[in-house]
Amino acid sequence: ATAFKGKKIALFGLGGSGMATAHALAAGGADVIAYDDNRDRVAAAEEAGIATQDLRTVDWGDMDALVLAPGVPLTHPRPHWTVDLASAAGVEIIGDIELFARQRRMEAPDCPFIAITGTNGKSTTTALVAHILEHAGRDVQMGGNIGVAVMSLEPPKDGRFFVLECSSYQIDLAPTLNPTAGILLNLTADHLDRHGSMQHYADVKERLVAGSDTAVIGVDDNWCVMIADRLEHEGRKVMRISKRHAVAEGIYAEGDVLMQAQNGASGAIVELAGIATLRGAHNAQNAAAAIAACLAVGLSIDEIKAALPDFAGLNHRMQPVARSGRVLFVNDSKATNAEATSPALSTFKDVYWIAGGLPKQGGIASLSGLFNRVRKAYLIGEAAPAFAATLGDRVPYEISETLDRAVLHAAEDAARDQGGEPIVLLSPACASFDQYRNFEIRGNAFVEHVSKLDGVNMLVG
Ligand code: ADP
Repeated sequence: ATAFKGKKIALFGLGGSGMATAHALAAGGADVIAYDDNRDRVAAAEEAGIATQDLRTVDWGDMDALVLAPGVPLTHPRPHWTVDLASAAGVEIIGDIELFARQRRMEAPDCPFIAITGTNGKSTTTALVAHILEHAGRDVQMGGNIGVAVMSLEPPKDGRFFVLECSSYQIDLAPTLNPTAGILLNLTADHLDRHGSMQHYADVKERLVAGSDTAVIGVDDNWCVMIADRLEHEGRKVMRISKRHAVAEGIYAEGDVLMQAQNGASGAIVELAGIATLRGAHNAQNAAAAIAACLAVGLSIDEIKAALPDFAGLNHRMQPVARSGRVLFVNDSKATNAEATSPALSTFKDVYWIAGGLPKQGGIASLSGLFNRVRKAYLIGEAAPAFAATLGDRVPYEISETLDRAVLHAAEDAARDQGGEPIVLLSPACASFDQYRNFEIRGNAFVEHVSKLDGVNMLVG
């Protein structure tokens, strides 16, 4: 990153992406001093030729910037110190997305750059945008808060498309972010632990679209509506997207059909119903946003339409994993709280619902409006008794205790269902830690148990 050539940069955080950042800065001619409070990481960095020093002992008057590696929280005790010292000395504090933004401006300002944020759906939308661009034969680099950190990607150059998922934290540390197209999907009261107030959280997210050549904004919540109106009022180019209602300029869903509104006219562009990985209203929002952004960076509707049916979706997020006759098995292991389970129960009917694990506050009471979609629940883990109490006599349930038994029983019951498309759904509304190390391992265990059932056709490898 030659944007920092000759500059003195302090870097805190030497995990994989911090190391990549250090190397990228050094390769661009910056004078980097790095540190971490994990001694093994410091030693590994030294070995890799990166200069290290405890950042409490450096001369901050001499520094041009403090770069915080992705994943280093501002509130972390040691960086907090470092952050205080840097701020006191008037040194700017930035993250890797900002490094990328500056590098792009200096080295390849015309390289198309799509940035994605929002409370929910970021990873799905990021993956979908990258998929569409790749399908259309473009040179694509995808990363940021999903997959590979931005400094580990190939460098920007003309004709190369960058698709970066940005967390609030990353936007906070990127004061001059200016994507070609910025997507703000939605804003709900989540992650308020780090951001204090909803207003501050919304302000941070707004900065991503405010700096974009084209702002793609989901207008299905009030915070986003206000932001879209404000940016438009300021004369910015805004494309609105909605999963619920028509918009004047942008993309919206009418049932399962996505419509494009342009210059006062609107017409159907894609039918989502047949695309298994894009089912549900929330995915209509994600797809609409991805399409709007791809249009904004110059793709044709035909290129976009051709790509959508091949979208593989993301693992563990309402992922169709197998079929057995009419029964569809869906892995939604990523749903670690009730709010995250809500899209799955809203999307599917006739659900044989596997839920439970390590319970979160509030349990599943907030889902009671969706209980009518559940044919039977199969409860696992520590949450089982509490969930059983909430379901009461409104939904039949069994305490399966373990995932293998839940899968077996749910599959048997679903096979006897006379309805249209019975769904065996793992959407636990719980953390996994009582039985599994993380949600990925839990989701993989589900897939494994499903694959051992008689007569199933696996949809995943
Ligand atoms: P993020 O990266 O923002 O955490 P993901 O794309 O990983 O979001 O999706 C995680 C889960 O959030 C999905 O399994 C689904 O249940 C839900 N979800 C996805 N997209 C949306 C959306 N647009 N609105 C609300 N919920 C969504």
